[in-house]
Amino acid sequence: MLAMILDTPGKPLRKADIPSPNPGTRQVSIRVHACAVCRSDLHVVDGELTRPKLPLVPGHEIVGRVAELGAGVTRFKVGDRVGVPWLGWTCGECSYCRNGQENLCDRAKFTGYTLDGGYAEYTIADERFCFSIPKSYSDAEAAPLLCAGLIGYRSLVKAGNGKRLGLYGFGAAGHIVAQVAKFQQREIYAFTRPGDEQAKIFALKLRAIWAGGSNELPPEALDAAIIFAPVGGLVPLALKAVGKGGIVVCGGIHMSDIPSFPYSILWEERSICSVANLTRRDGEEFMALAPKIPVRTEVETFSLEDTNEALNRLRAGKIYGAAVLVTNASDA
Ligand SMILES: [Zn+2]
Ligand SMILES: [Zn+2]
Repeated sequence: MLAMILDTPGKPLRKADIPSPNPGTRQVSIRVHACAVCRSDLHVVDGELTRPKLPLVPGHEIVGRVAELGAGVTRFKVGDRVGVPWLGWTCGECSYCRNGQENLCDRAKFTGYTLDGGYAEYTIADERFCFSIPKSYSDAEAAPLLCAGLIGYRSLVKAGNGKRLGLYGFGAAGHIVAQVAKFQQREIYAFTRPGDEQAKIFALKLRAIWAGGSNELPPEALDAAIIFAPVGGLVPLALKAVGKGGIVVCGGIHMSDIPSFPYSILWEERSICSVANLTRRDGEEFMALAPKIPVRTEVETFSLEDTNEALNRLRAGKIYGAAVLVTNASDA
């Protein structure tokens, strides 16, 4: 099969012809139809996430059809459409797993990071961590739901029920969360890179009631802010934008250092927290909610061979919505 492989962080991916993987116990083999390109993939490829398996097939927002069943598979049959997210396996035994926090499992394995992922024509996944994909989505439209959507949703839940919500970074996750928040009758304040007029227009098209540069303050104090951009300098800016008791949620897996800031902008019961990974429950909840809203994903598609270009465009901030690699499209 054709696969795009990371040999060394910091280098472009290598196009290779490798044997397709065989499913083990409770695993399914999946013919990949679409795999979205996540910001976390960039952190893996660029070496900011430091413990990838190598060589690695990246990609953790996979939509495809079950091609073969491993031993003991009960949830899916050949031909079923499934989605594979970042959380690829958990131990089920550690204190986090037993307390409903499998996202924090001590021994968790992650798709496209410590397990091979979806930048390939086939992949394998543990059936217990796969999701069914709502029928109303095409493969390419569904792919960004699997991380941008799920982690975005987890971030939104963490942000509480406040009405005025700030979003820093209006990419794949931001544009999905905005739609869920709108459905929940919240007001969206979109913060984009200073000077990025196109991003502002994109945010307003998604019915943000205000869009401005991340260095600006919103017209009213916010109840909560979610930071999707991997920029630590946004944390103090977001703290200044939220009112008393407000919360700032950091939704990414990696962020540059947070600069020091005066205690006064944290005082009055403001808080900062992060969101790590996802639980299967987040996935089930979000996959049930998305088609009801319905969440629409803006996607820009690339062929598997053009993965490096998709990564470069994402790194340069030149993707509006989500980049999706489309593979085996002819039999979708
Ligand atoms: Zn565990
Ligand atoms: Zn991701």
